[in-house]
Amino acid sequence: MRVKALVGFPTLVLMLFVAASAQQPAPVKAPARPQVVAAIAQTKETQAAITPQMALQMLKDGNERFVSGTMKKRDLTKQVKATSTGQFPFATIVGCMDSRAAPELIFDQGIGDVFSPRVAGNFANDDIIGSLEYGSGAMGARVIVVLGHSDCGAIKGACDNVKLGDLLPATLASIKPAIDAVPNDGSPRNSKNYAFVQRVADKNVTLAVKRIRDKSSLLRGMADKGEIKIVGAMLDVKTGKVTFVE
Ligand SMILES: [Zn+2]
Repeated sequence: MRVKALVGFPTLVLMLFVAASAQQPAPVKAPARPQVVAAIAQTKETQAAITPQMALQMLKDGNERFVSGTMKKRDLTKQVKATSTGQFPFATIVGCMDSRAAPELIFDQGIGDVFSPRVAGNFANDDIIGSLEYGSGAMGARVIVVLGHSDCGAIKGACDNVKLGDLLPATLASIKPAIDAVPNDGSPRNSKNYAFVQRVADKNVTLAVKRIRDKSSLLRGMADKGEIKIVGAMLDVKTGKVTFVE
């Protein structure tokens, strides 16, 4: 009796399941997610085969993967091993320190793919431009991107002329040329005016691109010869989407 009950129980469950399944509409099949396995890491050969236009496209594609949630599968531990004897990044991204603007994440890149000098307000001072000369002149990075972003605290701080700490005012002063370059249309010129803050952020990017070209004869020469590209871009922190300004 006891044995019979045990045997009968799963059969009953199975029957109930079959009956229940028959009443349910067929489940909608989710679209297959691309399971792209990333190359282990950039090598001298892969870097040499990348043109500036390709490098830019790789960042655009990476951002599309990031926005759509279809990032490449990466074995970062393997990438650490693969890059232990040398690095061959294809891009340098001058970004803000903002925690939402990490270049490797928003462009879906891994270890050894990109240089990412970062400073509050993503301006290009002499130290940053010197770093860019190293990145492209010595190390072969094919594209330089100055990446601004929406809702930037540093831009807001500069707009409000924030006085905090010993050195922050001097850092924020590097954003002042962008503030001065935005024409006065009568609207408030402070952090409460979102449109103004964004206009300053946009201008800050174009001025940084211009400053890189103006201050570095090495990078300007490489850009003019088509060996590298220097472009601006803007990250929308609401969506993760990057819009390039070429
Ligand atoms: Zn910022």
